[in-house]
Amino acid sequence: TPIPVPHFIRNIIEADLASGKHKSIVTRFPPEPNGYLHVGHAKSICLNFGLALDYQGRCNLRFDDTNPEKESEEYARSIQDDVRWLGFQWDGEVRWASDYFEALYDYAVELIRQGKAYVDDLSAEAMREYRGTLTAPGRNSPYRDRPAAENIDLFARMRAGEFPDGSKVLRAKIDMASPNINLRDPAIYRIRRAHHIRTGDQWCIYPMYDYTHCISDALENITHSLCTLEFEDHRPLYDWVLDQLPVPCHPQQIEFSRLELQYTLTSKRKLNQLVTENLVSGWDDPRMPTITGMRRRGYTPEGIREFARRIGISKSDNVVDMSVLEGCIREDMEVRVPRVMAVVKPLKVVITNFVEGETQSREAGFHPNHPEFGSRVVPFSKEIWIEADDFAETPPPGWQRLVPGGEVRLRYSYVIKCDEAIKDAVGNVVELRCSIDPDTLGKNPQGRKVKGVIHWLSVEHALAAEVRLYDRLFTVAEPDGDKARDFREFINPESLTVVQGWVEAAVRDAAPETRYQFERLGYFCADRRDHQPGGKLVFNRTVTLKDSWTK
Ligand code: ATP
Ligand code: MG
Ligand code: MG
Repeated sequence: TPIPVPHFIRNIIEADLASGKHKSIVTRFPPEPNGYLHVGHAKSICLNFGLALDYQGRCNLRFDDTNPEKESEEYARSIQDDVRWLGFQWDGEVRWASDYFEALYDYAVELIRQGKAYVDDLSAEAMREYRGTLTAPGRNSPYRDRPAAENIDLFARMRAGEFPDGSKVLRAKIDMASPNINLRDPAIYRIRRAHHIRTGDQWCIYPMYDYTHCISDALENITHSLCTLEFEDHRPLYDWVLDQLPVPCHPQQIEFSRLELQYTLTSKRKLNQLVTENLVSGWDDPRMPTITGMRRRGYTPEGIREFARRIGISKSDNVVDMSVLEGCIREDMEVRVPRVMAVVKPLKVVITNFVEGETQSREAGFHPNHPEFGSRVVPFSKEIWIEADDFAETPPPGWQRLVPGGEVRLRYSYVIKCDEAIKDAVGNVVELRCSIDPDTLGKNPQGRKVKGVIHWLSVEHALAAEVRLYDRLFTVAEPDGDKARDFREFINPESLTVVQGWVEAAVRDAAPETRYQFERLGYFCADRRDHQPGGKLVFNRTVTLKDSWTK
């Protein structure tokens, strides 16, 4: 298991355990089921569940389901799948903020009773105007001093459905002159007739996020409530609510910086836009930074967890380079997946000195350092496919692959020499005529050095496969960095190239999501949706190899 990287949240937890403030820790991951999780959420998942594992505590999965119009069962299901796929398990049952609707209502009545909440009839527009600005204090609403009894009655009638949507809100009575706008009598309940995925039509008033979140944390005995930095200004409200109420405990909210990744987006709303406007094929499009998209692309949970460990936790904002994520995935795949050969841009080679119809088979291990991965037979015959890019008529300097009159080794097989390049009417090379040196199987040729090694497949034995070559989704590092431009302008038109390639017969029965290294090309994964074992083979390029080997 990887060694934890120290950070300020660990320091706080260790101090709390050492001082006896807490005997053990309880964290939570609190997504709103209004979209699919993305790589930013993965950071939060790894943090919350990871801390619980490291300190033998517990971590809850709690849905923040207080915006009924935007939430769905599909999203809630996908979130659970994603957390489990990343390798984590929440403590006990899944929790829902809606489980606490009755308790939240009672606490609101308690606030009213204490004179710390009131029903306001101001329109949304008037309320905005009364709120003031960063530089100007707000003004008290004319309804602010309603007697508690009247507020209790009005709040009960809000719940009973006597008033139209938006006509009243319940507000916390804090301080309209506070420099922190979040404390200028924030709304804590609104009237909204919307069908809720869990409570149906039972409620027509819904609690607001800030009010719900802190009480939910307290009811679950959360010790450390970890959230992203944009909630720093909400912490005084979090603490204010809990300070007024007889809740079981008062969790500590601690903020850390959001993950942002170059060449992609970490905003659910914008990702949703990509999906609904068909700019990608869905939430699980392998170009998406969603967990389900990364999964379909072939990323491993171990690689993503290592990424989260490596980027660390801090309070400083930074945009992480995509190469950090890709590096973690590559390193993990390097030791984990079998290696086979595939050709994605085929060029036919005819071996002139090999007998037609004959097959010569050699055994080859699936991984140079993992004999336990087993081996397969690699057949050689008169016609083979090589990668078109491995041949050049006029090679650039330093070229170690095939040229007219030159030699190259076929991986696991002979050294071949290119005797002739056949061209079509417009001068494109369409086929090579080569000869083998029969004395080079498993040994170096006599009297000369052949440096280049290329991958290849026997034409007769290769299987056709659809190969999806993915590239970054955006052409610029920060697609939403320029306020004057729309991120959709920067979608990379070449983010997906589909080619008809060839693969070794060894992958014929690979189950969906099986991963391979296609030697020299990169890491690939059998598509989770479209790949059919023994039938239509579809492989996604997960990530390229850093270097193509030359030996
Ligand atoms: P978005 O802004 O993409 O809609 P969100 O914060 O509204 O994200 P939630 O479902 O509320 O989405 O997020 C659940 C948890 O994941 C929260 O605790 C949130 O702070 C955390 N989280 C969301 N995005 C990131 C990110 N980019 N980096 C780290 N943590 C994140
Ligand atoms: Mg949120
Ligand atoms: Mg959001």
